[in-house]
Amino acid sequence: MKSFPIIAGLSGLIFITGILFVVSCSSRNTGAQNTSREIQKNQNSPESAKDSVKSKTIDSLTQWYEDTSHHFVFLTWDDGPQPPGTRNCRKVFKELGVKASFFAVGFNILNKERELLMDSIRRDYPALLLVNHGFSHAMNNRYQKFYSPASIDTALNDFLHNERLMQITEKIIRFPGHNTWAVNGMISGQLTKKPLVHRLDSMGYQVIGWDTEWRGSSKTNAPRESATEMANRVVAQLSSGDTRVPGAVVLLSHDRYFAHADAVDSLRTFIQLLQADPRIHFETIDHFRELHQIRRSKGTIN
Ligand SMILES: [Zn+2]
Repeated sequence: MKSFPIIAGLSGLIFITGILFVVSCSSRNTGAQNTSREIQKNQNSPESAKDSVKSKTIDSLTQWYEDTSHHFVFLTWDDGPQPPGTRNCRKVFKELGVKASFFAVGFNILNKERELLMDSIRRDYPALLLVNHGFSHAMNNRYQKFYSPASIDTALNDFLHNERLMQITEKIIRFPGHNTWAVNGMISGQLTKKPLVHRLDSMGYQVIGWDTEWRGSSKTNAPRESATEMANRVVAQLSSGDTRVPGAVVLLSHDRYFAHADAVDSLRTFIQLLQADPRIHFETIDHFRELHQIRRSKGTIN
């Protein structure tokens, strides 16, 4: 486990006294395992696939959700800001024209540079989306205490504080350390019995888990799986329907795994492999099908 020093005076939260974690929030991942199924490439080039993604509108997204031949990949990167990984990922996403979401941690804004990096991502919307991973990353990974009924107000305030600090506009949260879902009253995953989930759900928050994870090495902090391995896995899950929503994969990874050039190349290759399939579209997590349908029913989009 790496550690970072705490910046003083960043927050009014009183329970933070230690050093900053970088433990993966996915240690209890229940996503599908790797598969040997090959990528089904098509005749279209990555460039043409990229163009089709760029030209997408909300209207077409609604139509695509009704057409099961379309597949969606939600890249969700946790624990930022953690440069240079955060900066590298943002650059690759923008370079390749794919949408992605950053579940950010206010406690990691250690300096002005990191604050400006988060400001940039916030301004990148609708290409990139800033969403809420809590201020303290569950009291610096003290999961049992953070999710206990006795800590519900502290935990709730941790998410609300992060929302204000990072000027997060969507009521979308990912729980640190646990794969849990709460979407429009449908609660599932590891923390379904915890009062915090139900409180957030009653307040209109959507808690987003994940279908699969691109893990990092605990020794090197580099991605464990190769680009091809991950792309094959995503395609296999899209084909099998082994995801929360058939035809959509929510992929979890972490900014910090992409600090070095080899990892950045791997991220680029992974995306390009998926872009070679014109059925696959990248979206920000606020357009995850269930959330998209909620917003549509409220009349905020078509
Ligand atoms: Zn995390």
